[in-house]
Amino acid sequence: MGPRGLPDIHEALGRDLGRVVGERHLASSRAHHDEVRAMCGAALAEAGLDVHEQIVTGPFGPGANVIGRIRGSSASARTWVCGAHYDTVRGSPGADDNGVAVAAVLEIARSLGRTRPRDAIELVLWDMEELQTLRAGALLGSAAMARDMAGKRVDVAGVVDLEMIGCCRREPGSQTFPAGFRLLFPDASRRVAAAGARGDFLALVHDRRAAVWAPVLEKSLQDNGIDAVLLEVHGARKLAHALYRSDHAPFWAHGFAAAMLTDTANFRNAHYHGPGDVAATVDLDFAARTTRAVVAALAELADVR
Ligand SMILES: [Zn+2]
Repeated sequence: MGPRGLPDIHEALGRDLGRVVGERHLASSRAHHDEVRAMCGAALAEAGLDVHEQIVTGPFGPGANVIGRIRGSSASARTWVCGAHYDTVRGSPGADDNGVAVAAVLEIARSLGRTRPRDAIELVLWDMEELQTLRAGALLGSAAMARDMAGKRVDVAGVVDLEMIGCCRREPGSQTFPAGFRLLFPDASRRVAAAGARGDFLALVHDRRAAVWAPVLEKSLQDNGIDAVLLEVHGARKLAHALYRSDHAPFWAHGFAAAMLTDTANFRNAHYHGPGDVAATVDLDFAARTTRAVVAALAELADVR
């Protein structure tokens, strides 16, 4: 088993996105939040993964990370993690943020769920990512998982966080930059500017530890027609705070190698956190290519035979 064909992935993403889309907030839309939580657990189980929920406590009552595990061979104790948050802010149906990435994780499960890799793979839908809009750094779901893995001394080989993978804009000037970006990443900003500042690439934001394997993901994206811009973060949290704004950051904090794959959110997508973040604005071809690339990269990294 490996990546399925693009038309199949495209269709699966469209179908799952249709079921996920709609506000998913623990205070104002718990019913749909919990519906999606259950649907994700069922889809991971159906794909052949061992599924459990990690209960997470937060200001609006308990939520849960939904975690599916593909066992590794006994020779290896390493674990790869790939995930996406499934909650939304209030007032947004969350199609690009982060419904399409949730659909991608479910599709990755279907592609890899019945394989036997050397390293274990955990596919996860994180809860409570959006509570950081109330308090900076409050990525409660991923923080609970990272803390738990650190406490159990899990040998985490790497974490791949899918954070908005459905917005692609090809018109010149459609890509903007966070403050301080040009200073921190002069080469990357020159490269994007030279190409007309088009929002048609994915940013691959990683730490120094993940620099070992980030090129595998980059190459796999390239093979699937997606241009990746690699951004290696070396602290500088104040200046680069936009690059800490998702579920990879708590893993960095615990010393794990982690990367975020993102369409850059509000620096490209005008519907970010608003009522217009609907399924019709998602570029399913872009997301399908990305999904296929992540499947191939995980298969290579975890050594799927
Ligand atoms: Zn968000």
